[in-house]
Amino acid sequence: MIKGSGRPVYSGVAIGKIFVFSKSRQINRTKCSDIEKEIKRFNDAIAVAKEELNVLYEKTKREIGEEQAEIIEVQSLFLDDLDYTEGIIDMIKAGSDAAFSTHEIGDAQASAFAQLDDEYMKARAADIKDISDRLIKILTGSEGSFKMDSPGIVVAEDLSPSETVSLDKEKILAFVTRQGSSNSHTAILARVMNIPSLVLTDIDIDPSLNGRTMIVDGFAGNYYIDPDDETMNSMLLKQKGALEHKAELDAYRKRESISKSGKKVNLFANIGSPDDLKYVLDGDAEGIGLLRSEFLYLGRHDYPSEYELFTAYKKVVETMEGKKVVIRTLDIGADKKVDYFNLEKEENPALGYRGIRICLREKEIFKTQLRAIYRASEFGKVSIMFPMIISLKEIKEIKETCAEVIKELEAEGCNLNPVELGIMIETPAAAIISDVLAKEVDFFSVGTNDLTQYTLALDRQNEKLDSFYDSHHEAIMRLLKIIADNAHKAGIWAGICGELAGDLTLTDEFLKMGYDELSVAPSRVLELRKKIIESEV
Ligand code: PEP
Ligand code: MG
Repeated sequence: MIKGSGRPVYSGVAIGKIFVFSKSRQINRTKCSDIEKEIKRFNDAIAVAKEELNVLYEKTKREIGEEQAEIIEVQSLFLDDLDYTEGIIDMIKAGSDAAFSTHEIGDAQASAFAQLDDEYMKARAADIKDISDRLIKILTGSEGSFKMDSPGIVVAEDLSPSETVSLDKEKILAFVTRQGSSNSHTAILARVMNIPSLVLTDIDIDPSLNGRTMIVDGFAGNYYIDPDDETMNSMLLKQKGALEHKAELDAYRKRESISKSGKKVNLFANIGSPDDLKYVLDGDAEGIGLLRSEFLYLGRHDYPSEYELFTAYKKVVETMEGKKVVIRTLDIGADKKVDYFNLEKEENPALGYRGIRICLREKEIFKTQLRAIYRASEFGKVSIMFPMIISLKEIKEIKETCAEVIKELEAEGCNLNPVELGIMIETPAAAIISDVLAKEVDFFSVGTNDLTQYTLALDRQNEKLDSFYDSHHEAIMRLLKIIADNAHKAGIWAGICGELAGDLTLTDEFLKMGYDELSVAPSRVLELRKKIIESEV
């Protein structure tokens, strides 16, 4: 038996087969005997890739705009670039297969581009990698993606948000990663999915782990590989205890979240996509307090269309049957990277081009989302909120864009319901001027994950800083009080949707501050309702 430990990000006990998630697609060299045939296969793959890119170009131009479509055109040009194609053909002539040759030349050229001084040329490295990946997929007929043939435990070095969305959530019993932090999106996902998970573990990741039995104890932060009988039996008991506790919480279903002295709180849930609705229904949330729209953009090769977004939002709104759904517009950038956005590498991504900043610069992307959200408002009760706000100017611009969208949709015959417009308070700037901002919006929702990161100047993704990261810091508590007071003075509601909302040691404090809404991972709802109902505040 191997025993190890890590930092638990969600409690519970999982027992299952290991699936090792490996990031890099392994392209092994195969010796090629029929060189002419291999060159023909490569040239055919180029023709297929051109065809695929043509379709993508037209779709992007139609749905997003000419400027974005040009990026696809640039990729197409590489397929006619002799330096690139002849380099690959030369390698095939020297006896390597086409996929391996494409991988090698693609990587070499991408790193050459990445080293250039010119920012535009530097950014072309991602295009070469992308086009090489496309050719390799055509040549090998494989997506190269990670597949789970049965339920099991995902063991990984780390998982980016776009990697987590590509996983088959139905089959995941637990996550165990070597890296990550308690505030990373993988940790947030584990809490949404209600599965025990450990980050920052000491596990040696090796393909030989695949298929072996693992136990993850999310209470103690331990994992066991090939457990002995004694460990298995004691963990089965612990698992039974956790299930019994969950059953006890059933007594809090379908009840109002109201404290002993009559303070009522709207107890909502945070989700990433319609797939998470089953956790919301299971958790008995009273609404959705944060739909992280960016998850609809991750794990894809191009932008979702207005129709795709509308379908996703409509599903959420309809499933919630008239309960409030707060949809946050795209918060891409920083840790949530998407290749097709072609975002340049930044020195300080958390302080960079992200969230509302991208939306206000790339109006077509913004308007596509807003149109989809407003159209979904015909099917229930929708609020929109905007991330990373720092100024009144941004709110004014957002409101103008919303007004344009409403006008367009009404002219098209849509029958829109009233939609509240709110902002996330997740920068110290927004918290400090919350008295001014409150006069312009319908509600505030505090993003304590980012508010803590920016107030304490601590990167939430950096595992080395976990011991410095004090989410109960006096500065955060004071800001939370200021925000709630300023909201109420202006007559608007205030909620918290960052991870702190689910911290039961602060529930009384939040009730005293007068927060009207707490939005937490679906799995935390019943536990938090119990705490509110038992609170004397
Ligand atoms: C936050 O910052 O607290 C928040 C809810 O947004 P996200 O975690 O998606 O950045
Ligand atoms: Mg945030």
